[in-house]
Amino acid sequence: MKRFFLASALLALAFSALAQTQDPLDRDQSKYATYSFSNDDKYTVETPYETVTVVQPKGKKVKNVIFMIGDGTGLSQWSVGWVANGGALNVDQMPVAGYSRTYCTDKLVTDSCAGGTALAIREKTKYGYIGVDENGEPVESNLQYAKRKGMKTGVTVTCRINDATPADFCIHGTSRKDEEGLAAQYVDANVDFISGGGTHFWNQRSDGRNLIEEMKAKGYTYVDKLEDIAGAEGDKFLGLYDEYDLKPALDRGPILLESTKKAIEMLDNKKGFFLMVEGSQIDDWCHRNKVGYAIEELFDFDKTIGYVLEWAAKDGQTLVVVTADHNTGGLTLLKGSIEERTVKVHFSTKGHDGIVVPVFAFGPGAEAFSGVHENSEVGQIVRKLMK
Ligand SMILES: [Zn+2]
Repeated sequence: MKRFFLASALLALAFSALAQTQDPLDRDQSKYATYSFSNDDKYTVETPYETVTVVQPKGKKVKNVIFMIGDGTGLSQWSVGWVANGGALNVDQMPVAGYSRTYCTDKLVTDSCAGGTALAIREKTKYGYIGVDENGEPVESNLQYAKRKGMKTGVTVTCRINDATPADFCIHGTSRKDEEGLAAQYVDANVDFISGGGTHFWNQRSDGRNLIEEMKAKGYTYVDKLEDIAGAEGDKFLGLYDEYDLKPALDRGPILLESTKKAIEMLDNKKGFFLMVEGSQIDDWCHRNKVGYAIEELFDFDKTIGYVLEWAAKDGQTLVVVTADHNTGGLTLLKGSIEERTVKVHFSTKGHDGIVVPVFAFGPGAEAFSGVHENSEVGQIVRKLMK
């Protein structure tokens, strides 16, 4: 009896260890969340968060660019989030809005690689391509251009840092599956501020390299938890907080907000900076058709937008753009109540869809984003304003 008890205890231990080990290819993180919602298509928010009020600055000079991407975040995600927060979002404070067409060169419905690349390198490319043109040739991104101009640069995301959107701005490749290869490119990318997940591809590699140690040797301050972000010093920052993607919003805490604050503090300098901030997992939860998790991710992103807008309003020379690489989930807002902060939705797909996404802009040059644009044109406008 005693032996049986021991064996079953060991078995239970082994199972719980298994449950905590993420499979890098299985990206369904709901089983790692410590919280769950009773419905996948309904959500009610108990306590809404306060939103900011900002005034568009008068100056025309663009010194800094903060380019913010809600992965998979279209008009319906913003609409659902707006109702769920009681009829207020920080993004509402951005005075200019336009639309971006997201199709890529070989497909009507794009993936994040090609969708983000068009925003980053100013031209459309093939499905699955990262920071390269249609022929697979690397093209300088707006972030890399900023670096060449002597500006400081940074990216902060809630996915693995080698994932499509951050990679589109920092490195180049034709396959997102080459995760170790993409991660290794960051060592020579010379990006001043890097924050996200994916340590598996940095220090548990098949080639035995430890990229975190290599980055430290290059002068990067390395941080691996939320509590250590605010106190980090130095002028180069590497923050990696999880083995693969970061945990869901309510589990990980305000890593996106805190890392964005730190990035602005470290990057702000006489020559200006280019910072890309991504709310990465709004897309993931729309893929999984779970609206509560998607709304919490959207709130996490929108709270970060609130901080950025207040900072940019004070600075007066910072262009802030908020857009998406594509729309995800065919999300429809069916009914709900602004007063009760409740939504009932329908998802028509577990994939991406081809609906135009909004582009919001604030700060000097913002008016140029009004109207209907190709996604590549959004990148072109940013580049023009950086000159
Ligand atoms: Zn996606």
